[in-house]
Amino acid sequence: MDLDRLGTVLHELGQPAYRAKQIELAVYRDLAHGYDDIPTIPRPLRQELAGRMPFDELRLETTRRSPDGADKDLFLTQDSLPIESVLIPHENGSRTVCVSTEAGCQIGCTFCATGHLGFQRTLTPFEIVDQVLFFARQLKAAGEKVTNVVFMGMGEPFLTYEHMRRAILLLNDPDALGLGQRRISVSTSGIVPSIEHFTQEQWQVNLAVSLHAPTDALRSQLMPINRTYPLSALMPALDRYVAVTNRRLMLEYLLLGGINDSPEDAHRLADLLRTWPNVSRLGLVNLLTYNPTRDAYGHWNAFMGPTGRTLATFEDILTAHGIPWTRRVSFGGDVGAACGQLAGEARPPDATQL
Ligand code: SAH
Ligand code: SF4
Repeated sequence: MDLDRLGTVLHELGQPAYRAKQIELAVYRDLAHGYDDIPTIPRPLRQELAGRMPFDELRLETTRRSPDGADKDLFLTQDSLPIESVLIPHENGSRTVCVSTEAGCQIGCTFCATGHLGFQRTLTPFEIVDQVLFFARQLKAAGEKVTNVVFMGMGEPFLTYEHMRRAILLLNDPDALGLGQRRISVSTSGIVPSIEHFTQEQWQVNLAVSLHAPTDALRSQLMPINRTYPLSALMPALDRYVAVTNRRLMLEYLLLGGINDSPEDAHRLADLLRTWPNVSRLGLVNLLTYNPTRDAYGHWNAFMGPTGRTLATFEDILTAHGIPWTRRVSFGGDVGAACGQLAGEARPPDATQL
């Protein structure tokens, strides 16, 4: 629900100020399903509101369940743009929602399906939080809750900083979803001015940065944003982030077979990280493996994942250099819901076309 619009509509209707809060609590804390699900509001007012503004900012089009339990929801915005969100259930009981912050993405990383879509627009804070609400309502019916939110769906959250910021505050607000800041994570492709803003926020939200290459030449080839913010600008910004916040920094490294997964790449990555004292103090490399994606014409991208042996060698080299690393287990690949596969498609890629 768009709380700004709600305020305006209630004002136009001459309603007392407390109505806005009543409705906000019903929607974001109590997870009401519609205006008729808010008994504290008189029926005529509910009807009036329903005629003037939509309850939800998004319309749920389809839900696809992957055999590994991940649910991918396809939504349409009011101007009919498709966006996708994923619910990832973990065995430890956590329920993580991966939200999109933009319809499409301006960055255009070569390995990412969203990047091949082009860019339509940024999402409003309410469109971002609505994605969580849909899953939260569904989980509530099963006696469960959303436990974590990651800003790792479609789009670059640091290019819509104010919207992302407001969405985080709404997720965190005890009068709304009341999700602890430590349970919220944001991933960026490396927008340096926003990393600097984020450094100044006095909060506990986790930061992840998509590194993916240890040299400018390779990184620029994979991620065009590196031409604007090369490693010589990105690394000092990350080092300052850790120095100021004293928080762990997740360094995402997507292993692409034959491209950035050689032993030399692993040594170069270790050397790069060790140049920066704070990054090496609290940085944690998160190794991702490539999930297949298609380009704007529907052709499969020519990337491959690393072989098991290459991956093990890469890990061993990082370990030998004393660089802590983890390996991300990817969810949702069966329904095109894994990292980098979100493309606003109603249908998952047809496996027979592989
Ligand atoms: N725009 C942000 C957040 C969304 S992408 C960012 O780029 O950081 C979340 C993660 O998935 C990023 O690390 C991204 O690089 C990675 N990713 C993109 N395409 C992928 C693919 N095909 N396979 C695996 N991971 C991918
Ligand atoms: Fe955008 Fe992130 Fe995909 Fe790059 S990886 S195109 S920044 S969503």
